[in-house]
Amino acid sequence: MMKKIIQQLTTSSRVLVASHAKPDGDAIGSLLAMGIALERIGCEVTRYNESAIPAVYRFLPLVDTIQRELTDVAGFDTAVILDCGGLDRVGSAVDAITTIPTIVNIDHHTTNTRFGQYHLVDVNACATSEIIYRLIHAMGLELNVEMATAIYTGILTDTGSFRFSNTNRAAFSICEAMVAIGVNPSAVARHVYGTYSLGRIKLLNLALDSIEISSNGHISIMTVTREMLSDTGTQPEDADGLINYARRIQDVKVAALIHELENGNNVSRGRKRFHVSLRSDGSVDVARIASDFGGGGHAGAAGFSVESSLAELKKTIYSLSEGFRGTCHLN
Ligand code: AMP
Ligand code: MN
Ligand code: MN
Repeated sequence: MMKKIIQQLTTSSRVLVASHAKPDGDAIGSLLAMGIALERIGCEVTRYNESAIPAVYRFLPLVDTIQRELTDVAGFDTAVILDCGGLDRVGSAVDAITTIPTIVNIDHHTTNTRFGQYHLVDVNACATSEIIYRLIHAMGLELNVEMATAIYTGILTDTGSFRFSNTNRAAFSICEAMVAIGVNPSAVARHVYGTYSLGRIKLLNLALDSIEISSNGHISIMTVTREMLSDTGTQPEDADGLINYARRIQDVKVAALIHELENGNNVSRGRKRFHVSLRSDGSVDVARIASDFGGGGHAGAAGFSVESSLAELKKTIYSLSEGFRGTCHLN
């Protein structure tokens, strides 16, 4: 498949590269590295992401070339879609992107729907950035420090700094190679983890205070409301990573972060829209739970969006522990 994809890319002249809305380090890193690689082989490249790039990733080289608008898709030969379990994860541009003649799906989510004509889906890859590294290598290209920084950041953030269950040998060997090319690990860490605004620290305080736990101690719930964001002057991206505190609690198997979203047009009274992030301690497959709610992800980290009242949603999440018999063991 890798060969066929390289063949397709080398014969394309205008290529769209896109990754999932509300991007994380892997979505941005894989997009930036792929963009440079495609330009190297002579493609005219458009880099697209629906959402604003979180402040902690704005240090990445060429990040300003990522555009939030997609006006005319008629001229693209090929779309390369990165870190998306389903094509709808790109956001509102999904219908426009569907009209592009060839779609290449590069991803590592267990719930990947195999959309598009070409798939490079490896659920054992620690990050989409790992797959992009292998693809760039197979294309016969040398990585420059810009590409290396993007790939390093994608792997660092998706593995939770080499702590999560997706941390594999490739995570270390690729990051070692990226450092050899010139990536500065402490500089990347300072940007990604060491530059919290005061508001973000205040949000952390409110989020920690919101943690509740089920009576059997197996489920923890953290809640981040719109009011908490406005009181602290923060953005939704400032809640990234907070769920790890809820997951660390002793005996907790599944941690949920309920994130109140901006209200849509058609939400009925008393109900709101929420995104729920799920993390497991390795004994429960949360991708399966998220799929039941129309979302997806990985065994250890998944998510879904719902319309509900907050009280009802918490009840639903607490009731999940009854289904923990269908469990898995992550390595
Ligand atoms: P998050 O809930 O944003 O912390 O994401 C956890 C993991 O689940 C990430 O790998 C996401 O790409 C994936 N994910 C989150 N929400 C969804 C969704 N609605 N559909 C499919 N995958 C999702
Ligand atoms: Mn991602
Ligand atoms: Mn990823």
